[in-house]
Amino acid sequence: MNNNQSGKCQCGSVSYSFNKEKLISSHHCHCKDCQRATGSGKATILFISKKYVELNGEIKYFETKGSSGSHVRRGFCPNCGSGILSYTKELPHILFIKAGTLDDSSWVKIDSNFFTKSANDWNKPDESIKCFEGNPGIMYNLKTLIKSF
Ligand SMILES: [Zn+2]
Ligand SMILES: [Zn+2]
Repeated sequence: MNNNQSGKCQCGSVSYSFNKEKLISSHHCHCKDCQRATGSGKATILFISKKYVELNGEIKYFETKGSSGSHVRRGFCPNCGSGILSYTKELPHILFIKAGTLDDSSWVKIDSNFFTKSANDWNKPDESIKCFEGNPGIMYNLKTLIKSF
């Protein structure tokens, strides 16, 4: 079985690869910023430590302030505009990779939903997994996790 996964933007200028065994967790985020950034009902993101991701190509970042006060930097390909990944300035060693950019995303299993309060009726949260109304406070948990490395 091959655990090496790869992904890229639409034009191929930006690409990445990682071992899927290193993933921390996977989530749907229904926050308004993710809706704007994706042009859809939600973003699907994979949490992984930056050190396990091999990135190729130049990524441009757009910074917004998240509801919890953290600064979210959304990375996209400067050529084709595809959103590839994001991270918070406060915890830059954890990347949130956009699942839709994977070459093969059939293996992805989602752990929970974020910001279900801003989910739309036309893209309802998956009730069969854990739902957080807003920010799950996962960044605090991750900080603790990282410190224990
Ligand atoms: Zn591109
Ligand atoms: Zn979001």
